[in-house]
Amino acid sequence: MSTTPTEVCLERMLPYQIQARMQHMPIVYVPLGAIEYHGLHLPIGLDGFTAHALCEHAARQVGGMVMPTNYYGMTGSIGHHPWTILVDDESEFEAILWTTLRRLQDFGVKLSVLFTGHFGRRQLASLEALEERWNQENQEMRVLFLAINRCPAAKLQGDHGAIFETSLLAQLHPSLVQLDRLPSVKDQPANDPNGDSWGPHRRDQSNVLFGILGDDPRLYDPAEAKDLLDTLQTWVHARVSDAYQNLER
Ligand SMILES: [Zn+2]
Repeated sequence: MSTTPTEVCLERMLPYQIQARMQHMPIVYVPLGAIEYHGLHLPIGLDGFTAHALCEHAARQVGGMVMPTNYYGMTGSIGHHPWTILVDDESEFEAILWTTLRRLQDFGVKLSVLFTGHFGRRQLASLEALEERWNQENQEMRVLFLAINRCPAAKLQGDHGAIFETSLLAQLHPSLVQLDRLPSVKDQPANDPNGDSWGPHRRDQSNVLFGILGDDPRLYDPAEAKDLLDTLQTWVHARVSDAYQNLER
């Protein structure tokens, strides 16, 4: 008996494997990330790692295959930060996704899940519009859009490089979270005017938590992090299963 886990990452799969997986369940996940500065303690590709990991988990538990991560996300208020490469034009962003969806539909995929780990306002608005337009114009394949910050049961609010994102990546890729790259809380506590951890001071390069929007990541709790990941995984499975069952109605 083989103990090799089933391959679900499309770019690694051969046609016979893809065919078998399609017969099992014709679902494809499209993980969406960004290249952006997340503070000194996190990698610039964080959003893509979290999105891909949740998609891969769902593909194994529910069914389907995962596209390679699209790292080109829509820009926002931090577009000028170091090592941040974001798209300025919705039509550029949407064109790549539309082509991807059209080809997946040609191959007989019945459900595509656009899952974003990057959740700036313009990213979310663009994906909502794309989901709506696709589902109006196409019948053979449906699109389900999910965003990592929209799970109603999550106890932590989505943020940028702060407790939410740090917690998730620490669960998924612990070696990519290096909190000791930030000064210690004792030496340099957060200086948030009126306790506001989202203010413009965090966009000031001299701030101890420059480029981080949300509560001080140095205070993250591993137990809460585990709970957050479990909650998100359960939610994604349920949303994908529901959407797949709805296809058959
Ligand atoms: Zn992020």
